[in-house]
Amino acid sequence: MKALRLRKWRSDAELVELEEPQPGPGQVVVRIGGAGACHSDLHLMHDFDAGVLPWVPPFTLGHENAGWVHAVGPGVTGPAAGEPVAVYGAWGCGTCVRCRAGIENYCENPADSPVTGGGGGLGLDGGMAEFMLVPDARHLLPLPEGLDPVAAAPLTDAALTPYHAVRRSWPKLPPGSTAVVIGVGGLGHLAVQIIKATTAARVVAVDTRAEALELAEQSGADLVLRAGDGVTEAVRAATSGRGADVVLDFVGSDATLAQGAAAARRMGDLTVVGVAGGKLSVAFFAVPYELSVQTVYWGTRPELVEVLDLAARGLLRAATTKFSLDHAMDAYRRLQDGSIIGRAVIVPTGS
Ligand code: NAD
Ligand code: ZN
Ligand code: ZN
Repeated sequence: MKALRLRKWRSDAELVELEEPQPGPGQVVVRIGGAGACHSDLHLMHDFDAGVLPWVPPFTLGHENAGWVHAVGPGVTGPAAGEPVAVYGAWGCGTCVRCRAGIENYCENPADSPVTGGGGGLGLDGGMAEFMLVPDARHLLPLPEGLDPVAAAPLTDAALTPYHAVRRSWPKLPPGSTAVVIGVGGLGHLAVQIIKATTAARVVAVDTRAEALELAEQSGADLVLRAGDGVTEAVRAATSGRGADVVLDFVGSDATLAQGAAAARRMGDLTVVGVAGGKLSVAFFAVPYELSVQTVYWGTRPELVEVLDLAARGLLRAATTKFSLDHAMDAYRRLQDGSIIGRAVIVPTGS
């Protein structure tokens, strides 16, 4: 089969021929119907030297995946062959207290997990291939009626990650509150929809690109702002001077972190999702009182069940552009140069 593989750090991924995976005991092979192209894959190709991340190339990219069960290994009692499934992508040990609660994104026993802090497409072979090996059937969630694999694939990361970030801030998003979304790409446009669907907060969306701001409006944003120097003042003006109760930063650069902190309300949340590697300087008078700052990594399996339900009920929908596996690197080049609106989804030939 064909697979798009990261062969070494600091290099583009390459399309290669691989043996089809075979399921061992407890394992499942999924025929991929959609694999989302995440900006994190660009970071993987360009930003890291050997040893920085706990993974060793080569491995097939693609960590947001959905498809159909193709073959199950001995001992697997479900799901059955042909069933449409979403792949929960963070593969922990399955037995530590976090994993038992479905919080496999924060597994505390990495030595017993298939890979440290990753999963398929992040250290192990992912879904940018015709077939993908999933090491345990518990990682597969049945797709609800009406949700096809292309629509579902981005939900497993581009929606799950912002859903987790928004959900943990729900108590700070009552009626009358304001949330700011910085960066309205694959994750950000779904963040806007998630805030609108699950809270009564007003949403302010910020991006450098006019097309992204258009998508933000279509996604339900109440106010859109072109990124730049006036953002902090505009957010304060829109909130009677108070600032935003919750700021979600899907870029994570020095500039966006500084803007996010400056635009936040006292007792607010500044949640860093983007991996641009920026730093925020914290000092007594430099950030609003009782501002909580956190990074977040992915989401939990129970949260993915909730995300799939939101989508099945029409409350959450990824804007997608399809690419064949042969053109997967074109999708990443377009993501890099800012010409993807929403999410690019790779649809392997033969699916
Ligand atoms: P994307 O490229 O689809 O979207 C990024 C958006 O940010 C684009 O619309 C871009 O125009 C905009 N942008 C760039 N610079 C900006 C600025 N200075 N101000 C405002 N907007 C700006 O990327 P994506 O796939 O949505 O991923 C976003 C980030 O989240 C990436 O860094 C990615 O690695 C990271 N990510 C993190 C997790 C996690 O678990 N923490 C999960 C998935 C992705
Ligand atoms: Zn991702
Ligand atoms: Zn664990």
